[in-house]
Amino acid sequence: MSETPGKGLLDGLAVTLKTLTKRTTTQQYPDVQPDLPPRSRGVIALSEENCTVCMLCARECPDWCIYIDSHKEEVVVPGAARARQRNVLDKFDIDFSLCMYCGICIEVCPFDALHWTPEFEYAETDVLDLLHDKNRLGEWMRTVPPPPAHDVLGEPSKEEATAARKAAGPGAATAAKTARPAAVRPKPGAAT
Ligand code: SF4
Ligand code: SF4
Repeated sequence: MSETPGKGLLDGLAVTLKTLTKRTTTQQYPDVQPDLPPRSRGVIALSEENCTVCMLCARECPDWCIYIDSHKEEVVVPGAARARQRNVLDKFDIDFSLCMYCGICIEVCPFDALHWTPEFEYAETDVLDLLHDKNRLGEWMRTVPPPPAHDVLGEPSKEEATAARKAAGPGAATAAKTARPAAVRPKPGAAT
């Protein structure tokens, strides 16, 4: 069966007219930067001063793409019988060509030394350049978004709860633990 002449052209024009009236969702990257959610997993930033070289992140990383080296240094504490030792970070590399962006390293770090940043423009022409050393990881810290505002209705943090207990005095914690709600407190003389 032969098609009506010009039907293809009319169909095409109909599609064009339909699309013309729709709102466009295309973003003109890189001229227009995408508006990413603050918790986007772009790259990992290292706050070197927070790192105690505990090695937890390197041990838990499923891809084994965190490489850490350190040495021990003696710190003389006035009045202490012996000098103390502390770890000094020599090397902290993350190989982003192996990383699968699972976030485990950030979750397990007990000292908030690792952070997600939404920054994603670090593509390289050589895969070896995807190994970021501690200086490069440290530079990403400036792109870490501020933490979300405190939820006034949320549970107090462990530190806040401890501070409130201390402020309430030494007997407050025991009293709070042993106190029973009035509704379940037994009446005098009632069988227990
Ligand atoms: S995000 Fe996951 S894979 Fe990447 S370095 Fe951290 S633990 Fe390893
Ligand atoms: S878990 Fe945190 S403190 Fe421990 S080595 Fe990794 S980044 Fe440093």
